[in-house]
Amino acid sequence: MSTFDDAAHRELRELLGSYALGHLAGPEADPVRAHLDGCAACRLELDGLLPVARALGSVDAAAFADPAPLPPTLGDDVRRAVSEARSARDADEVGRRREAADLRARRGRVRLATVAATVVVALGVGGVVGGVVGRATAPEPPTVPTEAISMAPSPQRSVSVDSADLVAHTWGVELRIVAAGFAEGQTFRAAFRTDDGELVPAGEFIGVGDSPMTCFLQSSALREDVTQVVITDDGGETVLSSDL
Ligand SMILES: [Zn+2]
Repeated sequence: MSTFDDAAHRELRELLGSYALGHLAGPEADPVRAHLDGCAACRLELDGLLPVARALGSVDAAAFADPAPLPPTLGDDVRRAVSEARSARDADEVGRRREAADLRARRGRVRLATVAATVVVALGVGGVVGGVVGRATAPEPPTVPTEAISMAPSPQRSVSVDSADLVAHTWGVELRIVAAGFAEGQTFRAAFRTDDGELVPAGEFIGVGDSPMTCFLQSSALREDVTQVVITDDGGETVLSSDL
């Protein structure tokens, strides 16, 4: 060691690792070998490095040169995982389609319910909501002929008539009236006057104010016998009338 200055010695010591790993090609290894011949300290160090180098070599071989063997079930595992993912996706798709179908069905039911509610409201306007106390029936089939009449409200009344029709039944005449403005809460009476002067009642209803109402007011007088239809308020005053 005494034959080398510190810098040259340090440089050779740094090469010892590469030398121990066998990384030095022939010409590079020669000066290291020459030095080792004459330097006990470096030979000692090399003795310590060689087991480490061998260990590194075995690690290299085991961990990097040969890949770890694949589990024999890997192929099946991958296929099963892919199959499960596909099944889950397909199930999702089926679920989405089913949800869409359910939604359509629900919408259909809602539409049907809305139609049903509309029918109930329409019937309610003619019956309960309209405030009919007397006889009120569901509309007859449209084949029943109706006779439009003009019902002029008394000038001081706020009643407005949208339509008024007579229906000549075999059992009596009916007034179908769509109107608004009958004083809310008051009871009104309809009647037909016959050609012998008698007033035949055709039912009562309660005014609902400005809300439009539809009333079917029926009497036992026959159409061919009536000459006038009259609606009076609870004081007996004429609100609407029409000569027939
Ligand atoms: Zn040395």
